[in-house]
Amino acid sequence: MDPPISPTAQNPPDAQIDHAASLTYWNSVSADTTGMLGGFPQTSRIDLQGSSNFLAKLRRAARPSPSGTAGASLPRLNRVADCGAGVGRVTNGFLRNVADTVDVVEPVVKFTDAIARDGDNNNTHDSSRKEEDTPRGRIGEIINLGLQDWHPSPNTYDLIWNQWCLGHLTDAQLVEYLVRCKAGLVQGSSATPAWIVVKENMSTDAWKRDIYDEVDSSVTRSDEKFRDLFKKAGLKVVAADLQRGFPRDLFPVRMYALRPE
Ligand code: SAH
Repeated sequence: MDPPISPTAQNPPDAQIDHAASLTYWNSVSADTTGMLGGFPQTSRIDLQGSSNFLAKLRRAARPSPSGTAGASLPRLNRVADCGAGVGRVTNGFLRNVADTVDVVEPVVKFTDAIARDGDNNNTHDSSRKEEDTPRGRIGEIINLGLQDWHPSPNTYDLIWNQWCLGHLTDAQLVEYLVRCKAGLVQGSSATPAWIVVKENMSTDAWKRDIYDEVDSSVTRSDEKFRDLFKKAGLKVVAADLQRGFPRDLFPVRMYALRPE
């Protein structure tokens, strides 16, 4: 059976994305976790824990400890990027616990002002901190750009984290952006690989169509669409997992770890 309204090649959902409208929406939202999570701040802790577990599993699989001790601590990452970072929820709650430097990319200045204001003291929502004396990484560059305009420096990042922001890019912009991110990864050895991580809502459309959201002018893509775009960017999915523990009425959320083909 055909879907009731089939998006045509002339009118795909991502053709409706309007960056100016997105920025107007985000500038109207409060610069806090509630604003970032569309009124579901209670999901932040679960989200950060899920991200922390996903990355730890990925890193352990890439670098099995010689003794096989699952609990052995992982070395800190050198430099990572938090993309579409908002008020730094992921930066402060997770990435600064695992990396020495976190660069922040976010187009909305009032959000990055909040990061700059309380960045060094902000220990909230850091559910992945297990020990009081875990060193905290520093916030590096703050870059006020949309990801469609950001060109990461080549050979720079151990991890490029993209969460709940890629729906603001059209399909074509997303592929081009991912190609640039691929070049932005450090060319480590196989024992210390670098990754792009994408953590996004998944379309629940019965026909697997992307869903346009006029509130913030973004699209919610299907798993199939994401995988297709990753492939077009020359990236392979080396791990993927659904976030567990979110309220049932929210979109499912999937994490993908990507490496150059
Ligand atoms: N990743 C953060 C924030 C999610 S809210 C977190 O998980 O808490 C979505 C963020 O995407 C907002 O901060 C918004 O300003 C930002 N955004 C909007 N348009 C964008 C674009 N074109 N490129 C990058 N980020 C964008």
